[in-house]
Amino acid sequence: MTQVLNAAVREAGLPGHWPWRVEVRPRRRTLGLDVLPDGTIVIAVPTRITPDELTNALQDRRLWLARAIRRRAELAADHPAKELVDGEGFTYLGRHYRLLRVAAPATPVRLRGGWLQLSSEAGGPEIIEWYRTRGQAWLTERVRSWAGRVGVEPPHVVVRDLATRWGLRTRDGSVAFHWATIQLPPDLLDLVVVHELVHLVVPRHDEEFRRRLMIALPEAAALEARLGEEGRRAWMGTVRDL
Ligand SMILES: [Zn+2]
Repeated sequence: MTQVLNAAVREAGLPGHWPWRVEVRPRRRTLGLDVLPDGTIVIAVPTRITPDELTNALQDRRLWLARAIRRRAELAADHPAKELVDGEGFTYLGRHYRLLRVAAPATPVRLRGGWLQLSSEAGGPEIIEWYRTRGQAWLTERVRSWAGRVGVEPPHVVVRDLATRWGLRTRDGSVAFHWATIQLPPDLLDLVVVHELVHLVVPRHDEEFRRRLMIALPEAAALEARLGEEGRRAWMGTVRDL
């Protein structure tokens, strides 16, 4: 089967420098496309897809793929690496803080008077865990607050590392957010939240998805443009060694 499907993908005539692989997923009902951080396109297909359907679906979504690949490349290029030294800049809810190493504080990481205080014993993992915990509280509250306006039951919220994605739906109906989102300003966090909540009703980025997104958040298009810019500058956890 895989050979037939591989031939169907080649038939779609995607650019030769786009790496891809086909994964057959018995539980899927529709074609799924994802672009991994390294640029590989994962083509997830349901068992009963025909070669023609696969070829056509890929041709239909070629523009979307080109955009997704470009975005991945930009993301990879822009995210800063941080040095964990006094004065290094960190962002929390869109505000800027300077790092200050302190000896034996009560907690490994805390905000105090414009400083992000980090224990001299702690490092990148503790900062990430701090963002994750803050994100869990903030995003859980925002999901609860937006769910009614989107017309869904508030789902369970998970905050973790999602590689290059801000949010996604999990198979069990939860929504997951990247720990790095909590660096973004509150209005961009709301965009990420509403986007995932609308996905609970409409899985794909089709017209119905846009319609519902714009009803819930009329300024969504402007926020998306800002997320594209500001999101690229978020810290994704890379620490530069001195
Ligand atoms: Zn989406």
